Amino acid sequence: MSAPRSAASGDPDAATLLAERPHLAYDPMAGLMLEGVPLAAIAQALGTPCWVYGGATMRTRYRALAEALTAAGLNAQIHYAIKANDHSAVIDLFAAEGAGADVVSGGEIRRALAAGMPAGRLVFSGVGKTERELRLALEASVAQINVESAEELEMLDSVACALGRRAPVALRVNPDVDAATHTKITTGLGHNKFGIPLAEAAEIYVRATALEGIAPIGLALHIGSQIGSLAPFRTACRRLAALARSLIAAGYPLGRLDAGGGIPISYRDEPPITAAAYAGALKSAFAGLDVELLIEPGRWLAGPAGVLLTAVVLEKNAGGRRFVVVDAAMNDLVRPALYDAWHGIVPVAAEAAGAPSRPADVVGPVCETADTFARDRALPMVFPGALLAVLDAGAYGATMSSTYNSRPLAAAALVENGSWTVIRPRQEEAALWATERLPDWRVSRSGNGQVA
Ligand SMILES: *Cc1c(COP(=O)(O)O)cnc(C)c1O
Repeated sequence: MSAPRSAASGDPDAATLLAERPHLAYDPMAGLMLEGVPLAAIAQALGTPCWVYGGATMRTRYRALAEALTAAGLNAQIHYAIKANDHSAVIDLFAAEGAGADVVSGGEIRRALAAGMPAGRLVFSGVGKTERELRLALEASVAQINVESAEELEMLDSVACALGRRAPVALRVNPDVDAATHTKITTGLGHNKFGIPLAEAAEIYVRATALEGIAPIGLALHIGSQIGSLAPFRTACRRLAALARSLIAAGYPLGRLDAGGGIPISYRDEPPITAAAYAGALKSAFAGLDVELLIEPGRWLAGPAGVLLTAVVLEKNAGGRRFVVVDAAMNDLVRPALYDAWHGIVPVAAEAAGAPSRPADVVGPVCETADTFARDRALPMVFPGALLAVLDAGAYGATMSSTYNSRPLAAAALVENGSWTVIRPRQEEAALWATERLPDWRVSRSGNGQVA
């Protein structure tokens, strides 16, 4: 791309980042706004760090994807992968749009149901579903269980038989393609733990048709998250399509193909994959197959819609480096530490956005060198209390937070129609240890069941 860059590092500058994110804009007085709401006002009310999500942005993205699928002539349903952002308000928003949900644990099944997502729109994925989770899924009557191994198929069959039910099953195939993403989020390589090797899938599908507790309905894949390009995705889908054609030709029931998630977003300057290009890839791979399609995007729907607001604690110069120490940390947003992820970081104050900048490392207060949001990032002079917005934090942000260093989970707000509301208050510090107990032997000696 020919976008202007800050000379120091090759990173896109704030103006370039915002030009591609129409839900974000500077007001000369109010500073950075998300869907027209000043982020400084939300930070003022909630304190920092806090998450802010744009409801209209999520909805617009969902509709753009749904329309692209329809325009390509596909009979496809979107199942939002709630692990990307599982706030009840976010699940509710997508459910109201008609989306289903991709869930990967018993907790996510219960969370989705509690948020009002109908069980008939749930797809249950995951490589290690326990018997208890499978029972929960069957009792709730989820739409589809994606089975990842011959062993799991037998386990599910016995759980289903014990309940007197038939489990609607798609076999998750491992197509052995390199999704060209970070090694920690690639899932479709032959040596990854996920799915059934392509060469064994037909035999296991045939086996599934013979099991009393199993109703095989289709095939699934998911090659990874933030896939590097559409090429590996197309290859994987073609392999899935070929397998489906041979099973259909042999007379086996197969009405559904699930292409998984993984649609990437542009964090830095990666060429974006449009909804139309993605739909085109699906269409060409599955041409001529009269089946229902299902996709499971998470990041693409929620990622760009969110920011993490953080305040500068202080600026410190040491060892010839400039450190901007902020009050958010890797326990809030772990992606930079875990995946070496790049996130745009821009000042909330409008005048700071245009001010001369110098490279800085943006770091959190946690006792790990990995607690670094950015290295050598061009930032203007900042003072304690100055607000920064970490961009594209709507997916795999809050859901991956921990309370490491006894840091409570941050507050979250949703912007709708020019106003905003809290969708999760900041966790109380005391809640971090409220359910903890001293061991009995310690209690009897002290005569006090409370942790002092
Ligand atoms: C994580 C996951 C998704 C969503 O991936 P995104 O990259 O967020 O689109 C979809 N399906 C399965 C099975 C997953 O594990």
